[in-house]
Amino acid sequence: SPVVGVLALQGDVREHAMALAEADAVARPIRRPEELAEVDALVIPGGESTTMSKLALLFGLMQPLRERVAAGMPVYGSCAGMIMLADKILDGRDDQETVGGIDMVVRRNAFGRQNESFEQAIEVRGLDGGPVHGVFIRAPWVESVGEGVEVLAALDHERIVAVRQGSLLATSFHPELTGDHRIHRFFVDMVRARA
Ligand code: GLN
Repeated sequence: SPVVGVLALQGDVREHAMALAEADAVARPIRRPEELAEVDALVIPGGESTTMSKLALLFGLMQPLRERVAAGMPVYGSCAGMIMLADKILDGRDDQETVGGIDMVVRRNAFGRQNESFEQAIEVRGLDGGPVHGVFIRAPWVESVGEGVEVLAALDHERIVAVRQGSLLATSFHPELTGDHRIHRFFVDMVRARA
């Protein structure tokens, strides 16, 4: 089985590790560059992207993360993890850095106060078995994507909430909180296809 790290600086690490195990991957928490070097792929969890970014810099992980992404390591980011994978963000903190890798502009906390948290059925392209239950918590949306980015899901045909570019996958929502592991399986299949 592929060994998939979960960036364990902050956020819902346990939930992703459990979902990965259900999807037949071996999950490992990652806090140090040496640990990152030993995994086939990585999940960046939901949480708070400003804190995650700060801690990644502090733990010396930002550069190694960028290098692994550039070398083609598969990465899946949910919510804050999506923000971390964006080449460009809007409404970030002034000094907020991202790992980048997906040619997209992501707006943090995009759904606003009225809609801080909500749940909605979402049709995801390439996923069999009907819509997923989308859990959105102070979620970002994707404001625009470059040519190489495949849009996998959008709310009301407008707000992009799931994308893929090569071996990078990102969702605004949190499948790790739902008990439906199809997105994690989809990602683990991407990891297997690359190996
Ligand atoms: N609002 C958070 C951020 O900007 C993301 C929220 C989440 O991951 N549930 O990082």
